[in-house]
Amino acid sequence: MALPQPAPEPARRRTLHERLATAPVVCGEGYLFELERRGYLQAGAFVPEVVLEHPEEVEALHRQFVHAGSDVVEAFTYYAHREKLRVIGKDGILEPLNRQALEIARRVADGTGTLLAGNICNTGVYDPADPATHAAVREMFTEQVGWAAEAGADFVIGETFRFLGEARIALEVIRAAGLPSVVLLVAGHEPTTRDGVAITQACRAMADAGADVVGLNCVRGPATMLPLLGPIAAAVDCPVAALPVPYRTTPEQPTFHALRDPEPLPLPAELPFPTALDPFTCHRYEIADFTRRARAAGVRYFGLCCGAAPHHLRAMAETLGRTPPASRYSPDMSKHVYLGADRRLRAANQEYRHSL
Ligand SMILES: [Zn+2]
Repeated sequence: MALPQPAPEPARRRTLHERLATAPVVCGEGYLFELERRGYLQAGAFVPEVVLEHPEEVEALHRQFVHAGSDVVEAFTYYAHREKLRVIGKDGILEPLNRQALEIARRVADGTGTLLAGNICNTGVYDPADPATHAAVREMFTEQVGWAAEAGADFVIGETFRFLGEARIALEVIRAAGLPSVVLLVAGHEPTTRDGVAITQACRAMADAGADVVGLNCVRGPATMLPLLGPIAAAVDCPVAALPVPYRTTPEQPTFHALRDPEPLPLPAELPFPTALDPFTCHRYEIADFTRRARAAGVRYFGLCCGAAPHHLRAMAETLGRTPPASRYSPDMSKHVYLGADRRLRAANQEYRHSL
C-alpha cells in the first residue's frame, strides 16, 4: 500500500525582476476596446462595469491573452477609480468592482503561472496648480493600490499618465505599499507631458524616483511610438516598456485621436476615435515588425494597448522567441486549397488561384 505523499509545493512563480533579468516580458492589455467591441462595455465613460456584470467575459479575455503569450494578468481596474464611478453615479460599486477584478485576475494568474498586476491610471482630477487635487488623486490611488496589495498583486501598473505630477503620485503610492512598479506615460500629439516635460526626461524622472519599469502606453501607434523608445532607453537604467495601440498612426496623425478617415462615410462624430478606428488597424506582421525594432531600441517590457486582439499579442510573443499555446494555431498556408503548395493538393485548384 502506498503511503500518502505530501502534496508537492507549487512551483514559485518567478518575479517580474527575475523575468526581466533573463528575457523580455509581455503584458496583454486593451481590455476596454476589446470588451466594447464584444458588446460588454460602453464607449464613452469606458467604465469596466463588466467586471461585476459579466465576470466570465473578463476571465475569458484574461485567459485568451495568456493563451496568446501574455506573462501578466492585469486586473481590469482601469478607470475603476472614485472619479469615474462618481461621473456615472455609481460610487457604491467602487470597492466591489476593484476586489472582484483582482479576484478574477488572481484566479487566472494562479492557474497559468503568470504574474498578477494591479492597475491604476489617469484620474481626470489632477491639476498641477491645485494641491487639493493632488491629495484627492493620492487618496484614490491609495485605496486602489491597497486592494491590489491585499489581493497579492505581484506588482502594480500605473498607466496612461499625461501629467508627470500625477505619475509621480502613483509611483509614491505603489512604493509605499512595498510593491514593484511599472509606470507608463502617454506621449500625445507632442512628445511632452501636459505639465510641460519632454517625455524622455519624464521617464528619466520616474526611473530616478524608483520606478522598476518606465515607458509609454496607449494613444500612439507603433510607427509614432517607436522613435521615442531609443532615447528613453538611453536615458534610464531600468527596463523600458512599450505598449502602443495597434493603429496606423503617422507623423501627421501621430495619435489615435488624430486619425482621420479619407472615406467620406458618415460617422456619428467628427473623429473615428474610438469606435470607427477599424480601417486603421495594424495587421499582425506590423506588430511583429514593431516588436523587432523596439527590442533593438532597448525595450524589455512589451505589450499592446487599446485596440489589441489576441492575434496581435501572439505575433509579438512569437517575435520575442516564444511559442505560447496559441502558436499551435499560427498560420500555415502550405495546405490552403488554392494558395498552398503541398503536393497532396489538387493541381486544378492551385491553377485557379489567379482567378480567385
Ligand atoms: Zn490604451
